Amino acid sequence: MSDLAKTFRRLIASTGPISLAHYMAESNAHYYAQQNPIGGQGADFITAPEVSQMFGELIGLWLVDIWMRAGSPAPVHYVELGPGRGTLARDASRVMRRQGLSPQMHLVETSERLREAQLAAVPSVVHHHDLSNLPEDGPLLLVANEFLDALPVRQLVQTGDSWREVMVGLGATGEFVEMPGRQPMDSAVAQAHRSAPPGTVIETSPACAAIVTEVADRLAVQGGAALFIDYGHADGRTGSSLQAVRGHEKLGVFDAPGEADLSAHVDFAQMAAVAGAQGCRVLGTATQGDWLNALGIEQRAAALAASAPDQADSVMSARDRLIAPDQMGELFKVMGLAGPNWPEGAGFQTTK
Ligand code: SAH
Repeated sequence: MSDLAKTFRRLIASTGPISLAHYMAESNAHYYAQQNPIGGQGADFITAPEVSQMFGELIGLWLVDIWMRAGSPAPVHYVELGPGRGTLARDASRVMRRQGLSPQMHLVETSERLREAQLAAVPSVVHHHDLSNLPEDGPLLLVANEFLDALPVRQLVQTGDSWREVMVGLGATGEFVEMPGRQPMDSAVAQAHRSAPPGTVIETSPACAAIVTEVADRLAVQGGAALFIDYGHADGRTGSSLQAVRGHEKLGVFDAPGEADLSAHVDFAQMAAVAGAQGCRVLGTATQGDWLNALGIEQRAAALAASAPDQADSVMSARDRLIAPDQMGELFKVMGLAGPNWPEGAGFQTTK
């Protein structure tokens, strides 16, 4: 049993069940501090920037395009939340610099281990623990890929007589089990869901909402644009989406706390509502496939294949992985935000 599992057991045994959100937050903090999770062989999961340089390059071009149409303001800051190995930041900044956009690079990252990888990929970045100390003297060009899904979710379950928070307790043999909390939480459930049948689970992420609020607030005041890319849905849904992944395989959420990546679907409808409420522009939410197609991934893939014919097959299979509906194209969404006086963003016109 891992040290973290032992810590959770002691904590629960002495003070009672902990919330699922607490369990997820501690597990992931531990996980990202210890592991080198992202990439190909030997890693736990792979993300779009690690699939192909095309991903970061097209994001860089999107940022250049909106920045230019906003009048090329300076100074301007690139901000990335949870940059992993720094691959997206590296690919995007290469393209931006070529187009005359050389923003200061700010990376928000809590894991010391990943900070080292990021510095190796993009020298001269400024690291931040959270958003509070990001600069305020100019617009932000902000990107967050597979960041929100790692933030803790809270689940509420309909027990038959009331809504209760989902807690983590100990079963007869000391195993982790889910159980409803003691306090009725009906007031935390939207009216539309209140009469859902027993067993219904509603997942919310106050942590995601807090991040999107903070970003939207800054865009409203400082200007700039933001892209949140993640797997999730654009309509409100019920049910648990929490999952654990290790070595590219799913396992039980309680099987290996701190040693597997825990993530949950992002509720993009709610994130758009949260952002709009801060007075920033919601440019739209598109599927990753539609968005990358609108940005010209086909042309970029063809150019890469032409310049290195021996790589053509792998370029085309990477393109498919990013945009095919049965791969990342449909499940992943891109949500664009911008300051109130900023222009429309490319790729959101075909929003479904
Ligand atoms: N964007 C990268 C990595 C995604 S994994 C990619 O696409 O490859 C999630 C990233 O968010 C990791 O870098 C992790 O260390 C970071 N992270 C997770 N929780 C965080 C938090 N609360 N604050 C800051 N960074 C966090």
